[in-house]
Amino acid sequence: MMKLTIVGCSGSLSGPDSPASSYLVQAPYQDRTFSLLLDCGPGAMGALYRYLDPREIDAIALSHLHADHCLDLCGYYVAACYSPSAPWPRRPVYGPANAASRIAQAYEVPRGDSSASEHGPPIDEHFDWRIWQPSQRIGPFTVRTVQVDHPVEAYAIRVEEDKPGGAAMVYSGDTGPSEALVQIANRVDLLLVESAFLDHPDNPDGMHLSGAQAAAIGQAAGVAAIVITHIPPWYEPDRVLAEATPHFDGPVSLAKPGAVWDIVGR
Ligand SMILES: [Zn+2]
Ligand SMILES: [Zn+2]
Repeated sequence: MMKLTIVGCSGSLSGPDSPASSYLVQAPYQDRTFSLLLDCGPGAMGALYRYLDPREIDAIALSHLHADHCLDLCGYYVAACYSPSAPWPRRPVYGPANAASRIAQAYEVPRGDSSASEHGPPIDEHFDWRIWQPSQRIGPFTVRTVQVDHPVEAYAIRVEEDKPGGAAMVYSGDTGPSEALVQIANRVDLLLVESAFLDHPDNPDGMHLSGAQAAAIGQAAGVAAIVITHIPPWYEPDRVLAEATPHFDGPVSLAKPGAVWDIVGR
């Protein structure tokens, strides 16, 4: 069984009631709980303290490098260097190849010859950067990725317990309608899927999904349950849910901060 906790689910930016995208996935591993953080959008780092000591996060995975999915790595770094439990261990961060330089720019690289901050290495050396591969072992999980359809290099992420009968989930990241997403979500126990658009014939291609499109992807993939996320603050979540529900023969829920799903394999 794996446990999914919604840390932040507001789409495209933080919202009045939620940080931007961030999801905590946990499962038993070697007599303890392994914690994998999927995305770390604005506001996520502070909210994480509700659910665990962020020092205990074992690995971080970035779906893509848009600001709303990665910028609170800067906050993580501050806590890792300056909080009472500092210094924190160097943790792996999986993402696109340019993740290190992207985050270093976001944090602001020190001027002059200071190669290290007073309290630790510069941010791009603090993390153990790993470029996404089609498949990798991360603690108790086999994690697979495919590129999806978004204006920048972006991945859907499949997290599967590495044991017979283990649970499996897919996080869509940000994407327009994508056959690759249907393929990687094949028969997972939970599909966490973005719906940043309302249904409209003029929605741009290769950007985001409407609720109806998100649900149709889950239906085509034969998933057991759908959780809709990444709704921006200017849309009414219940409207997105109402657009999604008719297109899927199973439970469709809205992500909410603090909501937990215990995902069981079938
Ligand atoms: Zn986004
Ligand atoms: Zn994006």
